[in-house]
Amino acid sequence: MKFTKKQIDRYSRQIILKKIGTVGQKKLLRSSVLIVGAGGLGSPVAIYLAALGIGNIGIIDKDVVETSNLSRQIIFSSNDVKKKKSLIAVNKLKKLNPDIQLKSFQKKLTIKNIDQIAKRFDVMVDGSDNFRTRFLINDYCLANKKILVSGAINRFDGQVYTFNFSKNESPCLRCFMPNMPINSDDNCETEGILGTLAGIVGSIQANEVIKEIVGIGDTLCGYILIIDALKLTFRKVKLNKRSDCFCYEKK
Ligand SMILES: [Zn+2]
Repeated sequence: MKFTKKQIDRYSRQIILKKIGTVGQKKLLRSSVLIVGAGGLGSPVAIYLAALGIGNIGIIDKDVVETSNLSRQIIFSSNDVKKKKSLIAVNKLKKLNPDIQLKSFQKKLTIKNIDQIAKRFDVMVDGSDNFRTRFLINDYCLANKKILVSGAINRFDGQVYTFNFSKNESPCLRCFMPNMPINSDDNCETEGILGTLAGIVGSIQANEVIKEIVGIGDTLCGYILIIDALKLTFRKVKLNKRSDCFCYEKK
């Protein structure tokens, strides 16, 4: 593939980075990322990935925009309330970067449709708000050797983890959370969430996606990043593969 003049201009600040260059930018343009959830995390992830030239982006979300979303879901505006999230998000991103392919899925991700939707994507970004979806994405990415970058936010606390399942040594979500938590339906509706934390965690997720695709730096694969936005501490905790885990038996 050859860059157009416009592409060289648009991505010039990345292309001049030695670790990215034209080779890295081409990798980004050839890559495909599915963002699950166009919410607090999905908003910054989608904006950054579209802006910096991920060539194919899919966004799946079954919901419509609510007024209570606007404090952190920065891809939406007040006049988007009651409109379909995935469609609005894709339309905004098309304006941001007409150079990339975008696809919206206005539905819930389920065990029945996940393969049909996700098979064409190399990377999945989990910005969902419930454990059922988190486990579904984990198990799918594991079985299909995809890269998963997951984020979670609650009140003032955030977590990010990256699993590159093309590498045999990668642990999985079930290694540190073998069973779904009992309070698995708790989310920001009941617990509350600081808007800026979504931006911090989502930006770190986007940063992880870029490093995995270009193959630079150290990603969080094998670690969980624990963020306390009040104390402003970032702890990287090693995540070991458990010998009794589902992912261990699979390999
Ligand atoms: Zn595991």
